[in-house]
Amino acid sequence: MAEQQKRANQHVTTRMVQANGAIDPQTGGVVPPIQSSTTFARNSDYSQISPNHLYARDDDDLVRLGEDILAKAENADAGLLFPSGMAAIAAVMRTVPNNGTIILQSQIYWGTTKWVRDFCARREINLHEIECSDMDVLAKTIGTAKPDLVFVETPSNPWLRVTDIAQAAALSHEVGAKLVVDSTAASPVLSNPLAFGADIVMHSATKSINGHSDVLAGFLATNDAQSEIWQAIAMDRHDAGAVLGSFEAWLLIRGMRTLPLRMERMCENTMAVATFLQNHPKVEAVLYPGLTSHEKHELATKQMPNGYGSLLSFQVKGDAKTALAVCAKLETFKRATSLGGVESLVEHRHSIEGDATGVPENLIRLSVGIEHIQDLIGDLNEALS
Ligand code: PLP
Repeated sequence: MAEQQKRANQHVTTRMVQANGAIDPQTGGVVPPIQSSTTFARNSDYSQISPNHLYARDDDDLVRLGEDILAKAENADAGLLFPSGMAAIAAVMRTVPNNGTIILQSQIYWGTTKWVRDFCARREINLHEIECSDMDVLAKTIGTAKPDLVFVETPSNPWLRVTDIAQAAALSHEVGAKLVVDSTAASPVLSNPLAFGADIVMHSATKSINGHSDVLAGFLATNDAQSEIWQAIAMDRHDAGAVLGSFEAWLLIRGMRTLPLRMERMCENTMAVATFLQNHPKVEAVLYPGLTSHEKHELATKQMPNGYGSLLSFQVKGDAKTALAVCAKLETFKRATSLGGVESLVEHRHSIEGDATGVPENLIRLSVGIEHIQDLIGDLNEALS
């Protein structure tokens, strides 16, 4: 009991490193084992041998442990893991009734936009895609559309726009809407949207939470586990079976142990890269909330007190050809999609999204890893020269 109390008072870093103090109860192993069984035997009187072990879809100890670690990191009452970030987003969206209304931030992760558009068309849900980081636009749209759900991504991918979570929550709650925040680019160690009034925080745990580009996972957390929306999400996950496997949960927990340390180095590296790019004559603009030139720098500092993350975009002076030539010359930065891993990645989003989404042809997105900063800046310097 005293040990539990001590752990409850520990810093999030200590809790993550020690996986909330989990050990294998049978052997004392400091790394809890993977449960490979999908089903669990009963006693002859048909009672369960172990009360929380009936069937793997909802009874995996590692999944529960991962949820607990992440929920504590978000200062949340409850958390749920999903087999991908998109599965988590889909579970949230499926709570909106047919003919309901969703406000979705425009120019966010293209996969979210694409799926939500298709989903809303199929379910005859009114979809308003607006720039939610602009509070005037958000207030006006919430007032007229009276949404059931408002979904924002902050900082946004790949524009690095920052939305005022407290204001967005207040505006949403005025009309009875729920605010869901995709906080993937921040991670739970840099920002806790629930503390600013969001109803649900969402992560693609595929990114920095895992951090090693070898697991797909998604996460949702709330401070109102009894709410109708959370109960619907939990039931949907269980009944529709969008669950994470034990092996993936094991890998995720292993990755999470170093999340605070990785984020520290990634934020430091990204700030150095942003400063280098900002002063480069061939760079037109750098989009990174850590720079004082970012239009929402002060808000970002309030919402992300521990750092500004590892996602950064910049625009080269020139066109698509110029940007692609820079991407082609990079060697330390690997040309691959995704973000938040220990290895640095570069992506030309216009090549992926096309003209429709408005991503400029000269925009290059970087996910900055934990390599030595000299190698990262040296690589960019050579590619730009
Ligand atoms: N949200 C953001 C901001 C993302 O960048 C991504 C993926 O890139 C997702 C959600 C979707 O996550 P996943 O790939 O785990 O389904």
